[in-house]
Amino acid sequence: MSQFPDFDMGDRWILSHRPPKNTVDARVPYAFLVEEERTAAGVNAPVATVFLTNRECPFRCLMCDLWKNTTNEKSLPGDIPDQIAYALAQLPPARHIKLYNAGNFFDTKAIPSADYEKIAALLHPFETVIVECHPKLITERCLQFRDLLRGELEIALGLETAHPEVLRKLNKRMDLDEFRRCVQFLKKNGIRTRAFTLLRPPFLTEEDGLFWSKRTLEFAFESGVECCVVIPTRPGNGAMDWLQSNGFFSPPSLSSLEQAMEYGLGLRAGRVFADLWDLQLFADCPQCFESRRKRLETMNLRQVVPPKIACKCSTPKADY
Ligand code: SF4
Ligand SMILES: [Zn+2]
Repeated sequence: MSQFPDFDMGDRWILSHRPPKNTVDARVPYAFLVEEERTAAGVNAPVATVFLTNRECPFRCLMCDLWKNTTNEKSLPGDIPDQIAYALAQLPPARHIKLYNAGNFFDTKAIPSADYEKIAALLHPFETVIVECHPKLITERCLQFRDLLRGELEIALGLETAHPEVLRKLNKRMDLDEFRRCVQFLKKNGIRTRAFTLLRPPFLTEEDGLFWSKRTLEFAFESGVECCVVIPTRPGNGAMDWLQSNGFFSPPSLSSLEQAMEYGLGLRAGRVFADLWDLQLFADCPQCFESRRKRLETMNLRQVVPPKIACKCSTPKADY
């Protein structure tokens, strides 16, 4: 499965495979929640996440499904602060907050810069503010927003993979040097970064997928990233389903996710989280799945590697 299709999978091809978007309201966040997370200070704390509804990201990454809950029109001034206020009024207290907008916080068509002051005022109670953005949109504008905040700014960047050719095929429009320069720029300006990394993106075998997940974690930390998230690659956006049906993609196994996490935590270079959303998609044994999910949760919350779960699925078969 290390072969690439022999045609260009650019924007047009990716768009032509999409199923329809969900219906969303530009004045209401499409989700919000509070969950425990290990903070950069090494303690567990409640972290609020608000999934903002806004204009779709202008990039067309091959594996992305975030566009499903976005609008086609640019956000109107006032809509984003209203969405944040709406979520905060209903969420339990938290000292850290993620504002995830299915794209780029510093894309002014998604988050108008005229709203930065109002947003910063709403974020006054928070010690950490985490937003997401593509490296191409990391500019001085981030520093203007940082200066308005009382708490610290952290920016999540999609690194995806350190495999140069796969990264190019993902249509990310970013190379590894650009990612490294972006992390350094943010670091120099007192802004921490977290990297989203893909476990087994398309075009890789299970073995290569795990190998490159480990190299990607190393690359991220060597570049100056403080925290990495390992995301098992999922189908479901049209393009990925086509690749799966045609032998260019298979979702990774739960075992590879466990091994990537064990390796990443073993680097002791920064926090490493497994994305456990929809984990049952990767389940390979009904008997031990729940115990293994809890073990991954422990890795996330305690940043340690607990003993492996014994199950007959992992016992080597007797050789007759
Ligand atoms: S930059 Fe992020 S949100 Fe935009 S298409 Fe790529 S993965 Fe999706
Ligand atoms: Zn099992």
